[in-house]
Amino acid sequence: MAKSPEEEHPVKAFGWAARDHSGHLSPFNFSRRETGEEDVRFKVLYCGICHSDLHSIKNEWGNAAYPMVPGHEIVGVVTEVGSKVEKFKVGDKVGVGCLVGACHSCESCSDDLENYCSKLILTYNMPYHDGTRTYGGYSDTMVAPERYVVRIPDNMPLAAGAPLLCAGITVYSPLKYFGFTQPGMHIGIVGLGGLGHVAVKFAKAFGVKVTLISTSLSKKKEAIEHLGADSFVVSHDPEQMQAAMGTMDGILDTVSATHPLLPLLGLLKNNGKLILLGVPEKPLELPAFSLIMGRKTVAGSGIGGMKETQEMLDFAAKHNVTADIEVVPMDYVNTAMERLAKADVRYRFVIDIGNSLSATKP
Ligand code: NAP
Ligand code: ZN
Ligand code: ZN
Repeated sequence: MAKSPEEEHPVKAFGWAARDHSGHLSPFNFSRRETGEEDVRFKVLYCGICHSDLHSIKNEWGNAAYPMVPGHEIVGVVTEVGSKVEKFKVGDKVGVGCLVGACHSCESCSDDLENYCSKLILTYNMPYHDGTRTYGGYSDTMVAPERYVVRIPDNMPLAAGAPLLCAGITVYSPLKYFGFTQPGMHIGIVGLGGLGHVAVKFAKAFGVKVTLISTSLSKKKEAIEHLGADSFVVSHDPEQMQAAMGTMDGILDTVSATHPLLPLLGLLKNNGKLILLGVPEKPLELPAFSLIMGRKTVAGSGIGGMKETQEMLDFAAKHNVTADIEVVPMDYVNTAMERLAKADVRYRFVIDIGNSLSATKP
């Protein structure tokens, strides 16, 4: 008979888990493996709440296995390293994002694109090499192979840096890959949430013109004055959308819910590219004419490889890019999820695991 989550490994662990598709999270005792030769073990201090955590705990993508400990924007301090670990030592500030494993022999893996390996292992809700399930960062400790651990730059605050581990790399990678960093470019960002707000910051750090396309007029002032967006378009205002038609070289679409693509494709110049980053529950409609007229492209992009994730963190540290966060205690997590579902967060919740998790132990 399979062992219980508490008994399958030698090291005790404690976190919060969802037990079913209600997504309600509650305290959960489980276990983690011993520190292997190539592993880095760390005490989790902060973990961001990504909208993917919300999709996952509610089984909106149809692949949930419970109990599920979510969390893939994990930062903390190293407590133990395996004998073959070269890059990290006890006391270092580190992070783990969405990945903890891949095959390391396919073309994607040799190109430093573990994120596109067909055998990738996500940080939670996946079977690991040893057959046990992966558990994420809403927990006290984390252990991962050195390859999947990144260094948090010295000058980067840990809590505000945590969301870069998923939101940051998810927007940085397509900005670079699709050439949206070239001087003079005009880039649209759709959705001002966790991904969207760091997308504005990275795009501005690259020096391009940025327009925010949002359903929330209430976010306009802050988007321009604080985040540095050059302009703001309310997506359900036909006049504003009309005025922006045909002006953008590229668009990053971070919307988490089903929405029409036709108006967004209209914002692109000829040869413009719409990059889908959000993962709505249901498929999106793609009208062929809107692509044919103007030779436009629709593409997708998923997080980033480990080498690029480190590069992104170093770039962020150099350009003072961090997330705007609301730090919340562990027992606020269910309320945070309700607010996230309503796009009511500026702009990322980060759980203060280090100071608030242990108090929730039954
Ligand atoms: P988030 O913080 O909830 O932000 C999503 C934003 O989308 C909201 O703030 C809102 O912005 C807008 N929005 C929400 N519902 C909408 C609707 N019905 N119509 C139009 N706009 C709507 O979520 P997030 O953490 O940034 O994640 C966004 C999406 O990316 C999720 O689906 C997540 O799973 C996915 N994701 C993908 C990857 C990847 O590798 N591709 C990585 C991480 C996350 P406004 O108020 O400005 O309209
Ligand atoms: Zn995420
Ligand atoms: Zn591979």
